[in-house]
Amino acid sequence: MSRAGTIPASSKRLVVKIGSSILVDETQGQIRRDWLEALTGDVARLHRNGCEVVLVSSGAIRLGRTYLKLPAGVLKLEESQAAAATGQIQLAHAYQESLARHGITVAQVLLTLDDSEARRRYLNARQTMGTLLGLGAIPVINENDTVATDEIRFGDNDRLGARVAEMISADTLILLSDIDGLYTGDPRSDPAAKHIPEIREITPEIEAMGGAAASEMSNGGMATKLMAGRIAMAAGCRMAIADGRPVGALGAVIDGKARCSWFLPEASPLSARKKWIKGSLKTAGSLIVDDGAVRALSAGKSLLPAGVTAIDGEFRRGDVVDVKDRRGRVLARGLVAYAAEDARRIVGRKSVEIEKLLGFRGRDEMVHRDDLVVE
Ligand code: GLU
Repeated sequence: MSRAGTIPASSKRLVVKIGSSILVDETQGQIRRDWLEALTGDVARLHRNGCEVVLVSSGAIRLGRTYLKLPAGVLKLEESQAAAATGQIQLAHAYQESLARHGITVAQVLLTLDDSEARRRYLNARQTMGTLLGLGAIPVINENDTVATDEIRFGDNDRLGARVAEMISADTLILLSDIDGLYTGDPRSDPAAKHIPEIREITPEIEAMGGAAASEMSNGGMATKLMAGRIAMAAGCRMAIADGRPVGALGAVIDGKARCSWFLPEASPLSARKKWIKGSLKTAGSLIVDDGAVRALSAGKSLLPAGVTAIDGEFRRGDVVDVKDRRGRVLARGLVAYAAEDARRIVGRKSVEIEKLLGFRGRDEMVHRDDLVVE
C-alpha cells in the first residue's frame, strides 16, 4: 500500500461520507444491515481510540421511495422531498440502533447549503457540532432534502461532506463510494485506465480525468468528488475516495488495506485556517487590549473579554478583526466570537459574567486561540 494508505490511523477528527448505493440495497431498497453493523463496529473502534467521528450519510431518498412505494425511474423534486422525509427517519433510526450497541449516542443534523454559506448559520452549525463531539456523540448528517429546493441545495453529499469537514476542521474525510478512486479514464470501459493513488494538487489534467470516470450510481459522480477534494484540501483536510461496497470497507481504509485515491493537502486544518485569517484583505474592526492580554497572546493563549479595553468599528460574529495594543500596534488577527455591539458590553468583564450581561451564554473567549494569528 502507498504511504498515504496508513494515514487515517492518526486521525483525530474524521468525516465519513456514505453513499446511498452502498448503504441501501439496490433491489430491495432496504438498508444493508450486515454492512451497517460492520461500519458502526469500525466507528466504535475509532471512537474508543480517541478519534471524533462524524457521519454524512445519504440514503434517505432511496429508502423513502421504498416505503412510499414510489415507482421506479426518475423522481420529481417534490417526490424526492417526500421520499427524503420518510427515509430520513429510517436512516437515523438505523444508525441510532446500530451505534447504541456500542454505547454510542447519535445526533441527527440536517443541513442546507445556506447553513454552510451564511456566516451566522455556519457558525451556529459549527458550534453545535463541536459541542456534540465534545459530549461524545456522533453526528449523523444529511442534507435537509425536505426543504432544500433546487437553487438552495447541494444535491450531493460529496460536497456537503467536504463542507462539514471544513466547518469542523476535520483532518480526514473519507468518501465511501462505489469506486475505489480516481482513474486516468473510465475503468469500466477503458482497460488501460490507471488508478491514481495520490493527488497533491487538483490540476486541469486531474479535472479532465474526473469527467471521464463518472460513477453512475451516485448523485455525485467523480466531478463532485473532485469539487469536494478542492474544498477539503483548501481547508487542510486530506480526503480519500474509497470503494465502500465491501462489508468492513471503513476498517479496511483505516488500516491501510484498501486501495483508494488520497488527496493530500500541504497544510494542516489549523494552519489552513490561520493562513486564511492572515490573508484576509480587510478587517472589520479592532479590539484594543491591555498589557496582561499582550503577554497572554504571545504565550499562545486565547483572548478573553477581561483583557480587552476598547472596541473599534462595527463587525459581526465571526468577522476578522485586528488585535491592537494600547499604542495602536497590531499584535494579532482573529475571528471574533461576538458582534461589536455585544463585544462592547462585555469589554473588561470576566467570562462568567457574559450570560448576565448579554442574556445568552456565549463563548468564554473573545477570540479563541485556534482563531487567532499572532503577528
Ligand atoms: N441527500 C440524499 C439522500 O439522503 C443523497 C444525496 C447524494 O446521493 O449524495 O438521499
